Amino acid sequence: MDIDFNSVLARAEKYKQDISKFLRDMIAIPSESCQEEKVVLRIKEEMQKVGFDRVEIDPMGNVMGYIGRGKHLVAMDAHIDTVGIGDKDLWDFDPYQGFEDEEFIGGRGASDQKGGMASAVYAGKIIKEMGLDGDYTLLVTGTVQEEDCDGLCWQYIINEDKIKPEFVLITEPTACRIYRGQRGRMEIKVTTHGMSCHGSAPERGDNAIYKMAPILMELRALNENLKDDSFLGKGTLTVSEIFFSSPSRCAVADGCTISVDRRLTRGETWDFALQQIRNLPSVKQAGAEVSMYDYSRPSYTGLSYPTESFFPTWVVEEDHPTCRTLVEAYRSLFQDEPLVDKWTFSTNAVSIMGRYQIPCIGFGPGHEEFSHAPNEKTLKSELVKAAAMYAVVPSIYVAKYVGRES
Ligand SMILES: [Zn+2]
Repeated sequence: MDIDFNSVLARAEKYKQDISKFLRDMIAIPSESCQEEKVVLRIKEEMQKVGFDRVEIDPMGNVMGYIGRGKHLVAMDAHIDTVGIGDKDLWDFDPYQGFEDEEFIGGRGASDQKGGMASAVYAGKIIKEMGLDGDYTLLVTGTVQEEDCDGLCWQYIINEDKIKPEFVLITEPTACRIYRGQRGRMEIKVTTHGMSCHGSAPERGDNAIYKMAPILMELRALNENLKDDSFLGKGTLTVSEIFFSSPSRCAVADGCTISVDRRLTRGETWDFALQQIRNLPSVKQAGAEVSMYDYSRPSYTGLSYPTESFFPTWVVEEDHPTCRTLVEAYRSLFQDEPLVDKWTFSTNAVSIMGRYQIPCIGFGPGHEEFSHAPNEKTLKSELVKAAAMYAVVPSIYVAKYVGRES
């Protein structure tokens, strides 16, 4: 394989200003979940400008840019919605106007994760200009609603757009490390039912809140005994909310519901986690209902695609072709050994790999700890590094791991 890695790096460096400008333009367009239309159109315009072969917006509102016409479909994903800005007084600068100096670009979405989008679009330009082609088609996706329901966009892309890449490079912030997994999560609901009556004569009723009390204690104990994993860490749970229904403050409560935030480690499936709670003696005793929450908020195009609030664990092994491709790309470009680790937060890989077993691997500019925080920023040097990585990954992948069979 004859990639001139130094030329790729030089070209990525040459586009530093263009990448920065594009990122600042995206930051200037507020795009909280379900309100991404304007930023999607801005991304489409940039993809067309730098020479993507085809750019489409799917019915959910995801923007999809293609390069090449080869047999092996390789995708790079950036979600382009952001969380809100929180308390504006905690920011030292305007979150949407942002700021820029020699080293940094600031603004909501700078790290999480419009920076990854900017780098991926310019990787496309570098691929076209340098002829870094092979028997692959590169798909760069700008996806919606990740902050609201991680992975939903890719459930739609895989099931309805019928697009199944061989692997997906997730461009969420990794500080230019290679990330190969994360714990999954679920939003669980436990409900007890009782019988209301006048509060002055509680013996006539059946108090649903009392029924919840032993369940709470057993859930706390269950958390201590959840499965551990040497790479991802331990599964956890915590009770995050509690609700009641009662005719009055002077009545016995006839309903009680709690929400459980469950983090899943390797080997823990949703039915396993639900069954674990259903098997608690207190849950059986109370006849409590245990289920998952749903998500059905419509996208900005008005499309509703309901799903369970279940975000499965995923891990790619270190010797998997996708991980080896990125390690090799990193070594060749930067003459250095990459750090291979995992995300703390969640990404679209929960559905792509967690639900559909399409391998995912992470590499992105920006830092997890800047995400969702005031004064969010990213490093320009990392934007350049990521663009160079993204430009060489597809051709290394097809030449090394699938090229021989075609
Ligand atoms: Zn993100």
